[in-house]
Order: sequence, then C-alpha cells, then structure tokens
Amino acid sequence: MNSNEFLKEYDSNRVCCPKCKSRFYTTTLQGYVLDLNDMESYKDLNTCVCRDCGDKHTFHDRVKDLDEKTKKFLKEEDKEILDNMRRSFNENRKRNDNYN
Ligand SMILES: [Zn+2]
Repeated sequence: MNSNEFLKEYDSNRVCCPKCKSRFYTTTLQGYVLDLNDMESYKDLNTCVCRDCGDKHTFHDRVKDLDEKTKKFLKEEDKEILDNMRRSFNENRKRNDNYN
C-alpha cells in the first residue's frame, strides 16, 4: 500500500462522528506527517466539531459508520436506506440553518 492509498483508507474509515454518526463536521486544518516506514502509527489529530451533536473529537477518533451492534441488525439495503434518510435529514437541517 502506498501513502496515497493509506491516507484514502484512513479517511474513509473516519467519515462519521463517534457519538451520533453524523457526517457533517467542521475541522482544523493542521497537517500531520505520515511516516512511510510506520504508516500504522499515523494520527490525524485535527480537532473536529460535529455539526449535529456538537461533539468535539480528533479526526483520528472518528468512526467508519454505524457501530457493530447496530450493523448486526441491519441488512445492507437497510443501511443504504438509513444512510439516505440521514443524509437528507442533515441537508434539510443545513438548509434551515442558512435561513435562520
Ligand atoms: Zn455527532
């Protein structure tokens, strides 16, 4: 795996808020160095603030998606539906924010 692939996977494993699983957040934009000889030790410690629940965490602490327990009860297609619901809910909320 080269560094680009590693970072792509690293990011894709951290799309969601660890608390509410929202994908909407603001973040600081500090750069962190990737050690090519020890890529697993890489930590992106930018501070993220969830736009839905307000949780503050480092980018490293974000999660891929639904927690394992929830996943177990959902089939793939259900997850997709849930994902779409969440997305449109968040988009509506964003739109409302702009009007307020
Ligand atoms: Zn959240």
